[in-house]
Amino acid sequence: MTDYDGTLVPIRERPEYALPGPGLLSLLRRLANTSRVALAVISGRDADDLKKLIPVKGIYLAGCHGAEILFPGGERHTAVEIDKLSPVLEAVAAQARKCVSGREGFLVEKKRAAVALHYRMAGRTAALKALDGFETAVRPLAMEHGLEFVAGRMVLEVRPRGVNKGETVRRLMNLHPCCCPLYFGDDTTDEDAFRAVRENGLGVLVSGRGPVTAASHRLTGPHEVLRFLQIISA
Ligand SMILES: [Mg+2]
Repeated sequence: MTDYDGTLVPIRERPEYALPGPGLLSLLRRLANTSRVALAVISGRDADDLKKLIPVKGIYLAGCHGAEILFPGGERHTAVEIDKLSPVLEAVAAQARKCVSGREGFLVEKKRAAVALHYRMAGRTAALKALDGFETAVRPLAMEHGLEFVAGRMVLEVRPRGVNKGETVRRLMNLHPCCCPLYFGDDTTDEDAFRAVRENGLGVLVSGRGPVTAASHRLTGPHEVLRFLQIISA
């Protein structure tokens, strides 16, 4: 099980620039065809976005941290009522756009089951101000509809409470009880997943730095993850 951005591919300035190379895709295809391996990509991105980025058959694609999972057989499973959630998330996204209007370096992303406010390209002071304004404006709405704020790497997300990578990993582990679970991730939102695999498997933090983690192992970047996957797929 692996995260995508910052784990399989390097982080880019904008999410749409983070494309997989041909080497990565053929490696994932090889792993997907290995009978003793079950493969899942678990990301904050939408499941359909993952499907476009990773056109690999026979794998799990978990979008919005697992709010929506595309199964290897093609079925779509949702952990939340996405249609009911949609108008609420529209309102959250509208607030986010209002908070960053006239400011440079922000990106508001309305996803199927979350709203992400990216501030990678913004200055620190502007980012703090915008995030503060956004939290204050959205908190009543979040409380009313069971949403929570989750901070990631240069992104603040609003998503349904209880949807996280830890729960998604547990679900996949239950589906494949004979597998030794491995999880690769680079971000704070991956810590739930590291905790979920800690007892029976290995959590691998993909980062050269970051002092506190629930992961048991560490690789320095996506290039090392690819090398590791090449070894286990051989
Ligand atoms: Mg990541």
